[in-house]
Amino acid sequence: MMPFEHLNATSMEDALAALGDDWQTRIIAGGTDLLPLMKEQIIAPSRLVNIKEAPELARLDFDPDDGLVVGALATLDEVARNPAVRQKYRVLAEAIDVAASPQLRNMATLVGNLLQTSRCWYYRGPFFCWLKGGDSCCAAAGENRLHALFGGGPCFSAHPSDPAPALVALGARLTIHGQEGNSRSVPLEEFYALPTEDRRRETILGPGELVVEIRIPPQPQEARGSYLKAMARETWAFALVGVAVHGVWEGPMAREINVTLGSVAPIPWRARQAEDLVRGKPLDGNLARQAGEAAVADARPLQQNGYKVKLVRTLVERALLMASAPKGRRHTAA
Ligand SMILES: Cc1cc2nc3c(=O)[nH]c(=O)nc-3n(C[C@H](O)[C@H](O)[C@H](O)COP(=O)(O)OP(=O)(O)OC[C@H]3O[C@@H](n4cnc5c(N)ncnc54)[C@H](O)[C@@H]3O)c2cc1C
Repeated sequence: MMPFEHLNATSMEDALAALGDDWQTRIIAGGTDLLPLMKEQIIAPSRLVNIKEAPELARLDFDPDDGLVVGALATLDEVARNPAVRQKYRVLAEAIDVAASPQLRNMATLVGNLLQTSRCWYYRGPFFCWLKGGDSCCAAAGENRLHALFGGGPCFSAHPSDPAPALVALGARLTIHGQEGNSRSVPLEEFYALPTEDRRRETILGPGELVVEIRIPPQPQEARGSYLKAMARETWAFALVGVAVHGVWEGPMAREINVTLGSVAPIPWRARQAEDLVRGKPLDGNLARQAGEAAVADARPLQQNGYKVKLVRTLVERALLMASAPKGRRHTAA
């Protein structure tokens, strides 16, 4: 690891004042993603700003009128154990339950999870991958069995977060503060953006910005969701495919519906064709199957990841049926 300076911020203002206008200064929360990247010298920041001693970032509050607020320091474990999350935001609780391991969920923050970087082996290894400044994506014609079906090119990596699709499905927003005292509230869905030549990153966050909290709107009584994850082994594995479904149900009919896929694109990916098919009609096995087909209509598999098409199709069908029912199984191993 390269030498770096370590600052303890004891307030949000301290943290913002310590940030710079480039990525040489990084925020550290749980450190479970940042420190391995530094140890492997994939990134080499000259300064870390530790936010764990800033009390105003530790919120985890539910209010029936305002919804759920998850501060930047709330860990995955704290969020998943919160009674309001388990009762009213089931898709999020289910997504966190199958993310990483108990030890990691204890250290890792939900905000840090949303900001974790690509798990692509070319990004994480000693390769000159496009995301790290190379000329082209090594996975495009290389080892690509874990890579993107949608939105690929120039980068074909698959966004690894389980909670991110669940939070997109719930209509979450991020509160972001900048160094000039400015603040903005951004829908999580717009916070993620496909990397471009000028911005080789998966989010629109700037280097001098701090994500202060996640806000999830209150949900009507009839709202229910489900998260399903296909894994190469039963536990402690990143998703091959993740599917988050959240809807507002009138009996078997979804008045509102959101289907968001994980691990199939460089960012969480809305399956809008599936949503359009399902919205406003009574859901049965046949309609759920058609929605699964619609979800993969625009898939562009690479040489080795065609199996993901079948996984998306099947998990969308199952997640819709589970979300429409009061109870369901939590996850599916591939
Ligand atoms: C072995 C292993 C298995 C895993 N399996 C899964 C899995 O199955 N599913 C899954 O979803 N995830 C998985 N993860 C990812 C894990 O959930 C993340 O590493 C973790 O959530 C990151 O949170 P953190 O608090 O440790 O973030 P950190 O490592 O501290 O930070 C991560 C990034 O976010 C930035 N950051 C953190 N907080 C803020 C803030 N408030 N404002 C602005 N920037 C900020 C940091 O600068 C850094 O760039 C796994 C990780 C490991 C190591």
